[in-house]
Amino acid sequence: MQKQLIAAAEYGQRFSQHDTYRHGAIIERATGSKTRYYGSNSLKTTPGSPKPEWKGKTICAEFDAVLRASRESVTDFTKYNLYVARYGKDGLLRNSKPCMWCDGLIRRLGFKGVYHS
Ligand SMILES: [Zn+2]
Repeated sequence: MQKQLIAAAEYGQRFSQHDTYRHGAIIERATGSKTRYYGSNSLKTTPGSPKPEWKGKTICAEFDAVLRASRESVTDFTKYNLYVARYGKDGLLRNSKPCMWCDGLIRRLGFKGVYHS
């Protein structure tokens, strides 16, 4: 799990468009295929985003990863684990707990495991 959290944090560091909090997310099958779906947070919104616009136009990394997996025809998330992580300015893994809105989405989708830094 540490391996995936580091990979998620690195993805966020590279691809997040957020200046302060650069979150990355990975959705990976719990067993078998190691295909990964990546996501990063960004300063925009899109229909279906669980985070309401009054909280700021933000797409969370985990939702971005869910969108990407859905586009690649993943429909049953119960066989997948979700990893969300970010590096702080000090280069260490820092809190990346999903927000309450993503948390609701994550529960509805029924991920097998959810891990965050
Ligand atoms: Zn969120």
